[in-house]
Amino acid sequence: MVALAQPAPLMLIPPAALNAAREARDAYGRQMTYLRISLTDRCNFRCLYCMPALGMKFQPRQEHLSDDELLRLVGLFAEVGFTKFRLTGGEPTIRPNLVELIRGMKSFTGVEEVSMTTNALLLSRNAQQLAEAGLDRINISIDTLDPDRFKAMTRGGRFDLVWKGILAAEAAGIVPIKLNSVVLKGQNDHEVGQMARLTLDRPWQVRFLEIMPMEGVGTVADEQLVTSEETQARLEAEFGPLAPVETDAADPARLWRIPGAAGTIGFISPVSVPFCAACNRVRLTADGKLRLCLLRPDEADLRDAMRAGADDPTLLRQIRAAVWRKPWGHGLAEGERETVRGMSQIGG
Ligand code: SAM
Ligand code: SF4
Repeated sequence: MVALAQPAPLMLIPPAALNAAREARDAYGRQMTYLRISLTDRCNFRCLYCMPALGMKFQPRQEHLSDDELLRLVGLFAEVGFTKFRLTGGEPTIRPNLVELIRGMKSFTGVEEVSMTTNALLLSRNAQQLAEAGLDRINISIDTLDPDRFKAMTRGGRFDLVWKGILAAEAAGIVPIKLNSVVLKGQNDHEVGQMARLTLDRPWQVRFLEIMPMEGVGTVADEQLVTSEETQARLEAEFGPLAPVETDAADPARLWRIPGAAGTIGFISPVSVPFCAACNRVRLTADGKLRLCLLRPDEADLRDAMRAGADDPTLLRQIRAAVWRKPWGHGLAEGERETVRGMSQIGG
């Protein structure tokens, strides 16, 4: 594991000028431009690496941001320089009014890209409407191409419907298709070659993720972690050396290609190679907390501020002040663990 060298913060207290700035920077000088929004903490799957089989406690719906509250916040984040917004969850496609929400988000000046991470179970129903509303990109979680294993890993998921969802997204022009696969020892690690093979004649990006030790996944994260290095070695044993592909610094995936393939392969390695230094993202939970780092508990309660009557300048100040105190990194290499919220409750 690589431990991160943490730089000294620029200043401990945000400069007064920050209150008027059209950008949101943290004390290390990183500008935040990317908001991941959890639309719900609920889900129609129970993936082994994300939720326990039983006993998930979901928030009452009135705890969640309403559509109006959510759109108000998106407009405010756009005012301070956020350009990219990703809808996630839980499962974002079970949120009512998803199409209208996306259309509303795209109407704000400054919103350049709205994307979504989904399990695709329901996608074949409305991919075309989502595209027409302005959904720019999509990441689809699919850990195996074997329907029985898929059912086991998602605890009940239907592979055929998910595959239909992927093809519907592609047919609707929400491209490039990116597939996320969390690799687990003894589950799907022997199938990474099959997943990678999808890129041979499709212009897709197949990304292999290391499991993160979030609340609710028990010992799976410690016992079944497969590092990106191990996955890459397995792929190279099958396909020969992978060719590096130039990657944007803020993209957590490091990209490679099987020589001659139409698509690419990505490795997302939060555990073995943290990408915190280039972090440009914060998260908004379904209940309206601005979460500054995936694995750190510091949050700013924007929902309660709104419900207490905060005006826009006050909310903008709260957003900038929270971003300023964003922690340097998630601290996984130093043994940091999330023990309160699971991935589905934060918005992966
Ligand atoms: N339900 C949607 C889905 O599965 O795509 C969106 C929410 S899910 C929490 C977002 C992403 O987080 C998925 O790609 C999933 O594979 C990933 N994820 C969930 N739990 C994880 C864990 N413990 N470690 C690493 N990735 C995880
Ligand atoms: Fe649901 Fe996504 Fe978590 Fe799987 S990874 S249980 S689909 S939220």
